[in-house]
Amino acid sequence: MTAPPDLTGKTLLMPDMTPTGSRLLVAALRAFGVNAVVMPTMNGLSLGKELTSGKECFPCQVTLGDVLHYLAEEKKRLGASFSAANYVYFMPEAGGPCRFGMYNTLHRIVLDRFPEFRDTAIVTLSTDDGYDSSAIFPRRSAGPFRKLAFTAMILADVLDRIAWRTRPYESVPGSVDACIVAALCDMSREMEASGATLDFSPLDRLAGETAHKASRLMDRTLPRRPRVGIVGEIYLRSHPGSNQELIRTLEALGGEVVNASLTEWFNFVTHLNRREAAQSFQACLKDLNLPGLATAATSRLVSRLTMDWQVKRQHAVYEQVLPHLDIAPDHDVAHLEAFLDDERLYSFAIGTEAGISIAGALAYAADDFDGVVNVFPFTCMPSTICSAILKPMLLKKNVPYLDSPHDGSNQPNRDITLRTFMHQVARRAALRMMGGRREKACPRGRKA
Ligand code: SF4
Repeated sequence: MTAPPDLTGKTLLMPDMTPTGSRLLVAALRAFGVNAVVMPTMNGLSLGKELTSGKECFPCQVTLGDVLHYLAEEKKRLGASFSAANYVYFMPEAGGPCRFGMYNTLHRIVLDRFPEFRDTAIVTLSTDDGYDSSAIFPRRSAGPFRKLAFTAMILADVLDRIAWRTRPYESVPGSVDACIVAALCDMSREMEASGATLDFSPLDRLAGETAHKASRLMDRTLPRRPRVGIVGEIYLRSHPGSNQELIRTLEALGGEVVNASLTEWFNFVTHLNRREAAQSFQACLKDLNLPGLATAATSRLVSRLTMDWQVKRQHAVYEQVLPHLDIAPDHDVAHLEAFLDDERLYSFAIGTEAGISIAGALAYAADDFDGVVNVFPFTCMPSTICSAILKPMLLKKNVPYLDSPHDGSNQPNRDITLRTFMHQVARRAALRMMGGRREKACPRGRKA
């Protein structure tokens, strides 16, 4: 294993994948003494497109443009005192059949084409070892940082879920967004100040307080809107710039939206590592491979303890929020696997996001959502598989389904496509409610 880079005096550049998650992750890094910043996004898209061939995934182009634009702006700002060696670019990767494992390699090749940016190092975390943070931190800090980073992802999910549950019903336009921005600032400050102690109670408390404040911004006389669930590629569904503000557009057209969470992906990665460890244990047992058996048993135990801790941590945060507001519960990954019908539809063993997206969409349908959107980069391989499997299945269940592919270009028919989809969603909700399941905006079906 290579030693982690020395980050002393350097600025770690974080892509702005999600407005809440990226900022809380930066706060977690800062809690451990790393001077991390979120790079502005979408300003360098033309640069990202110009320096790629067009065959790359869209998030690869967006993030490449972000880092090039940021470094160019820093060079302009600092003039002769600019040194590329003072910056470290953060770009995680995934193993398996996806191109995500190659983003950082391609970004390295492009950065090397600019002599003035060659000395900017790239650090990465990988799904292969469950985002073991020892690529960034020495061993003694890597474990605690991973715990704080995971908590940052749960808090980001919860802030987003509070916004999606309350914003469509806000009495004063803009009040929920203002509430979430203030909460994000408070949480970031708290995380930076006390996160390294791993006492999460002040952060969990802030999540509960935010839910309480946001719930009071709702007009509880409004009827519950039809719910739309989003699945798809994690960057595209989380990055409003890339998906052309899909969530707000669906809200403006009358929906209440729930996006698949960031935590779901982390739990999925841990679940896969646990699955692999169990398979390797069985194989070693069959071959009577004793050294292999010991290693597999350790990985099995570690992944099991990691998963248990993650689920417990997630419950602890949701427990603070749910007494104030009925945000959508997160999908349980092991439970999601059951939707794949004993692997007849797809297998988690294939990897990629396709498994959780297919299962997640079917879970939305089972939970009476009135529509599902699959959002992804144009030509994304796992999402295309999802589309092929989900379209006929959801049609059979009478659940409106929409593919939303993106490559940064403006689609002339997007508006009419979304309106048509939301019309189908509203029709389905009306028919479902005629079946007697009327709900009110008020969490417990009563007026305030
Ligand atoms: S998930 Fe899709 S967008 Fe992401 S690397 Fe794989 S193919 Fe590309």
